[in-house]
Amino acid sequence: MATVGFIGLGNMGGPMASNLAKAGHKVKAFDLSEEALKAIVADGAQAAKTAAEAIDGAEFVVSMLPADRHVKGVYLGDDGLINKLNKDQLVIDCSTISSETAMYVGEQLEKAGIAFIDAPVSGGVGGAKAGTLTFICGGTETNVDRARSVLNDMGKNVFRAGDVGAGQIAKICNNMLLSVLMVGTSEALQLGKANGLDPKVLSEIMLASSGSNWTLQVYNPCPGVMDNVPSSNDYQGGFLVDLMAKDLGLAQQTALESGAATPMGSLTRNLYHSWSEQGHGRQDFSSIFNYVAPKSQK
Ligand code: NAD
Repeated sequence: MATVGFIGLGNMGGPMASNLAKAGHKVKAFDLSEEALKAIVADGAQAAKTAAEAIDGAEFVVSMLPADRHVKGVYLGDDGLINKLNKDQLVIDCSTISSETAMYVGEQLEKAGIAFIDAPVSGGVGGAKAGTLTFICGGTETNVDRARSVLNDMGKNVFRAGDVGAGQIAKICNNMLLSVLMVGTSEALQLGKANGLDPKVLSEIMLASSGSNWTLQVYNPCPGVMDNVPSSNDYQGGFLVDLMAKDLGLAQQTALESGAATPMGSLTRNLYHSWSEQGHGRQDFSSIFNYVAPKSQK
């Protein structure tokens, strides 16, 4: 079992750190939120007062932060960990950020002799709690293999997409596809409802037909069709609209830079951005179901 410094204990990082502690790793955790720290102590981890204290003596440093600026700040900022990390430690950043930032942080750490991989995840809060996440890694084979001993206690799949930054590219490809599926599924369910169909029955039909997809299987956006999903909990407790809008912005930025054509991705980016602007940024991303509701229901 290893000593792990864990930074960022939000919707995802909290349950991930908790699973590491439950698996028997010594977890020293840090978050800016006192509440998040209290919760993790109850699950068997130690609370650190600073990020530097959390990583002290750790073999692995795992971070799960909101966006690029938080990751840059924690590792390369004025009081950044780059000056505190040592050459025996492996940094595993699980946040979803731009590939560019992952490569920049990786390069700066590498110059200081510190090993780094990007390892964004798929599987949502449910997967983080159940320990069934998929890790999509970018880094050398040696470093990704070394990370498996902790990643396997938080997830069930560990992929290596390529070198540092490649994990982030694969992750945004997946999330762009997910957003298209979520909007399409929402439209189909709203169309059926508007024409008198029971969304439960329609979901069963589409699940057994050619329209079947992940959102129908485990994350139905229509309230009341499935238990234990955000749509049946007032769209709380899942993957925020704001975070999806961020990922879709990253996908568009990457598409522009590489000349890839992503018309559907561009459209869903605009839909999620606009839904956030209308005040729904803190709801789960399946709330886009209400964006495509008939005018009379809005
Ligand atoms: P969150 O907002 O719930 O948690 C982020 C945590 O980071 C917060 O607790 C915050 O206090 C902490 N934090 C911010 N700056 C910090 C700092 N300088 N030092 C220490 N802690 C700091 O976000 P989340 O839903 O846990 O998502 C985290 C990352 O995972 C994001 O990049 C997101 O895109 C990605 N992700 C989320 C989901 C999901 O379903 N929520 C799924 C896959 C990937």
